[in-house]
Formats: sequence, structure tokens, C-alpha cells
Amino acid sequence: MTQTHHDVLIIGGGVAGLVLALEVAAHRKVTLLRPASDDHGASRWAQGGIAAVLSPADDVEAHIADTLVAGDGLCDERAVRFTVEQGPAAIEWLLSLGVPFTRDPNPEASYPYHLTREGGHGARRIIHAADATGRAVMDTLKAHVDAHPAITLCSELTAISLIGDTAGHCRGARCLDPQGQLHELLADDTVLATGGASGLYRHTTSPQPASGEGMLMAAELGAELMNLEFQQFHPTCLYDPGGTPFLISEAVRGEGGQLLNVHGERFMPALDPRAELAPRDIVARAIDAEMQRTASDHVLLDIRHLGVDAIHHHFPTIQAHCAGRGLDITCEPIPVVPAAHYSCGGVATDLDGATSVPRLYAIGEVACTGLHGANRMASNSLLECLVFARSCAKRLLHAQSPSNATLVATVTGSEPVPPDLVVELRQSLRQVMSSSVAIVRHDRGLEQAAAQLALSESRLAPFIARCTPTVTLSGLWHALRLARLTVASARQRRESRGLHFNPDCPHHGDPTPQPSRCHLTT
Ligand SMILES: Cc1cc2nc3c(=O)[nH]c(=O)nc-3n(C[C@H](O)[C@H](O)[C@H](O)COP(=O)(O)OP(=O)(O)OC[C@H]3O[C@@H](n4cnc5c(N)ncnc54)[C@H](O)[C@@H]3O)c2cc1C
Repeated sequence: MTQTHHDVLIIGGGVAGLVLALEVAAHRKVTLLRPASDDHGASRWAQGGIAAVLSPADDVEAHIADTLVAGDGLCDERAVRFTVEQGPAAIEWLLSLGVPFTRDPNPEASYPYHLTREGGHGARRIIHAADATGRAVMDTLKAHVDAHPAITLCSELTAISLIGDTAGHCRGARCLDPQGQLHELLADDTVLATGGASGLYRHTTSPQPASGEGMLMAAELGAELMNLEFQQFHPTCLYDPGGTPFLISEAVRGEGGQLLNVHGERFMPALDPRAELAPRDIVARAIDAEMQRTASDHVLLDIRHLGVDAIHHHFPTIQAHCAGRGLDITCEPIPVVPAAHYSCGGVATDLDGATSVPRLYAIGEVACTGLHGANRMASNSLLECLVFARSCAKRLLHAQSPSNATLVATVTGSEPVPPDLVVELRQSLRQVMSSSVAIVRHDRGLEQAAAQLALSESRLAPFIARCTPTVTLSGLWHALRLARLTVASARQRRESRGLHFNPDCPHHGDPTPQPSRCHLTT
């Protein structure tokens, strides 16, 4: 085992981690853990764009109001206002770094970059780089990070737990390299930027999403978790059994795409006056119900009326991906299905990303700032990554004197990990979460899920102390316990709200709803 000392340790290099690294590195030395490939996590796969009040025809109060409506009574209005107000400056900063956002082709346009519209937004306020915004932002940020002398990249290390001390402070992270060697990275400040928990589910909108490992690592140190029951399912993932997950961006509906059932009938206008542009939870539930009603495993998204040129101009990545899978979206509707996409819950933080554990911060999708409430509005999450990474950076500008308390040791064994058990329990976890804790949750399904997860946890527990730690073993252990907390949060919410829909209590039950909060008890 090695032990090294670091100033600011950032775990995770999606948009949140990269932005923070760049903003902090002018003042402090940064160690950034991220895999060499961008395929992990969500950021690289973001298509639609970033929401911000940029057009002179838009205004901050309208963006705040739309976010509050989507959040269905559970947003923290302070966090919403803070995020929306900081949005334009954050976009300016990205532009100053050279992110190639798509320009508005109209020379008379009131804002030089093209702004699109997505579900829940009452105005055109989504700045984007064609339909591959995440890739454009990541490439730009990464080029700056690679060139920065005060940022040390560790692409070989995966964090398996955080290090705490007897004073209750976070003191860094335990990591494994690809050879299974343990490395203790002690740090004055530690920031989780590890992404969400969509990997708890079988169908996801990105190929290698996190399963909430960062959330659980924080909870192991005593951090409070919040709103875990609100998992967003994107209504339109390409239905492509055997292919890799691929999102059909909400911008397709923003530009007029219509949802049809397998019989070619449009079903959204009868369900919601906003039709295909209703918030995601409503659209995902409608698709789920329509699939059940028609006994089908997908519905269709029709964009043909836009014409070949407009489709190619707005959606080159989607068009190319579908063409590669044998589908010409200019003359055929796109088969789509809802898939796990975004975790509204996470580690509870303040407006600077500070968690309830001293010297531990959380930013991006791993965090729960209160912005999204019970349902995230489209394109508000990259905005949140940017805004909170920048505010966290300000908080970290000046190092405080480090804690000198004794480090808390962990017990590990030396037996090999039983691979079959790990595979079996991971599959069973995804199956349970997808069938009982997904778009629609019934009391009985939640009860069965709780029992099944408790059983899986008890089967795995003896191996945690006995076995040599591995990334897959610790990842599964974290995922199982996070799933257990998620189910407990879902069972405690005796109402339906936002992304949490339970037909056994189908209405809003609480005139003054509160976020759910939990701690890891065992
Ligand atoms: C297909 C898709 C499309 C989307 N489109 C949009 C959009 O148009 N607009 C929008 O606002 N949002 C969109 N989102 C959501 C948005 O992309 C994410 O919320 C955001 O990118 C999260 O960024 P992040 O930096 O918090 O985490 P991520 O980008 O998920 O990055 C997490 C990082 O942490 C690393 N990591 C995780 N665990 C560990 C560990 N134990 N040790 C070391 N490293 C670790 C991962 O490897 C990764 O580098 C989309 C999401 C998906 C999946």
C-alpha cells in the first residue's frame, strides 16, 4: 500500500470535476481522479444542451418558475434562484474557454448562439453544440485540464472508500489501481464528483453510468443523503436490443417530434396540454402506460416532417448513430423506450457543495443541492454542474488548517472475491430496481424489493471483511446499500410526487412537502 498527501482531491472527471479542477487550480494544487476514457459517467453523452437565461426575450424569473413547476413542490427555492442567476456567467466562462456552441444561423437573431427549447421550459433557453453538447464541453475542458501545470491527473485509480478521522472529518480516499494495489490518498479537502446512480437499473441512457458509489462512500462517513426516491427515466432512449444505450435527445421533441404508439397513433395531446413537451416524468409515465396498453416493448418518435436538411442540421449525431444501426430517421419513425437517466437525489449539500461532513464536498449529479426537487427539468443538470463547481471552487480558494485527528482504519481480508456471486447479485439488483422501483412503484413491489435487497446484502456482507478489496466488490456493496436506502425513501413517501409515482397513494399527500433525508445506519 502507498500513502501520499494531496491538497485538493477531486474524485470524478465529468463536467463537474473538470470545471472545479480548472477553477481551483489557480490557487491550490489539484489531484483529479478520472478514467482515461470519457465513456464512463454521463457528461460525454449529454446531447441536448445547457439551460440558461441568455436570450433578451427570456428572464430569470421565468426560468426559476419553470424549474419550480417541474420540481413539483420540492425544490429549494434558494438553490433554484442561485443556480439560475449564476447561469449566464457560467456560460460566458465556457465560451471564454472556447466551447464550440452552435451559432444561430439568423444574422438578425437577438443572441448569437442558437437556443433550443426542451420539455418544461417556457422559452428557448438551451445553448448547445449541435446534438453532442457533452462531448464538445468535455473536449474543451479536458484540453485545458491537460495543459494545466497545477492539476495532476490520476487515470489509473478508482476510489473504493473515503478516509475519515476520529474528529469526523474527511481526510481523502482509498483507491485501487488496475493491479489491485491499494493507495491511500490523504487530502486537505476532498470533493466527490462521481456522478449519479442510474447504474442501479437495467436500462440506462449511457453505457457506463455510476451506481451511486460516491453517494454511499459519503454516507459511510456520516454524510446526509437526500431525495433518493426521485430517479428520472428519460422518456426516449433508442429501443435497440443488443445495441449500446443511446439517447434520443429531448430536443427532438423540442423541434416538433411526435410520439406515436406502435399502431401509429399520437397519444400525448390527450394526456397533457403540453403534449410531447410535458415534463419528463409525465411523458415517461405516458409511454410506460401506452406500452402496457398496447402490449409493446417500445413506442415511436416521429421527426420525419422536419425534412432531411433540418434533421441533418439539428441532429447529426442521432441521425448518424441510427443510420449505423440500420435506421434512416428521415423516412422512418424512431423506436424509443424510457431508460434510467438522472438521479435527482444524492449527497445533501449547501450552495458551495459542502456536505454535512467537514472537508468533504459533493458537486454535480452525486450531489443533491435542492435545485431539482422531485423532478429535474431538462438541461438544468449541466447548469448545476457548472454553477456548483464554480461556487465550490470559491469556497476552496483558501486552504484551512488540516485536521490532525487519528485516521480511522478499515479492515480488509485476503481471500479472493467469488466472481459468480458478484455477477449474480449485480444482475439481481438491477432486476429488482427495474421491476419494482422504476417509473411506477407499488407498495407491494417496494416491500418485495426491500426484502430482496436485504437478502442480497446479507449474502455479500461476510465477504466484505474477508476478501481482498476489488473495484467490482466495493462497487456492488455500495450499490446494494444505496438501493436499500432508495427503497426505504420510496416507501416512506406516502404520496405521488414528481418522479415518484405510486398508484397506492396516487395524489400529492402533503400540502407542505419536505425532501426525504437519510443516513446510513449500518
Ligand atoms: C445520455 C445523457 C444525456 C444527457 N443530456 C443532458 C443534457 O443535454 N443537458 C443536461 O443538462 N444534462 C444532461 N444529462 C445529464 C448530465 O449529463 C449529467 O447530470 C452530468 O453530466 C453529470 O456530470 P458529473 O460531472 O456530475 O458526473 P459524470 O459525468 O457522470 O462523471 C462522473 C465521473 O466520476 C468518475 N467516477 C465515478 N466513480 C468513481 C470512483 N469511485 N473513483 C474514481 N472516479 C469515479 C467517472 O468515471 C466519471 O469520470 C444527460 C445524461 C445522459 C446520461
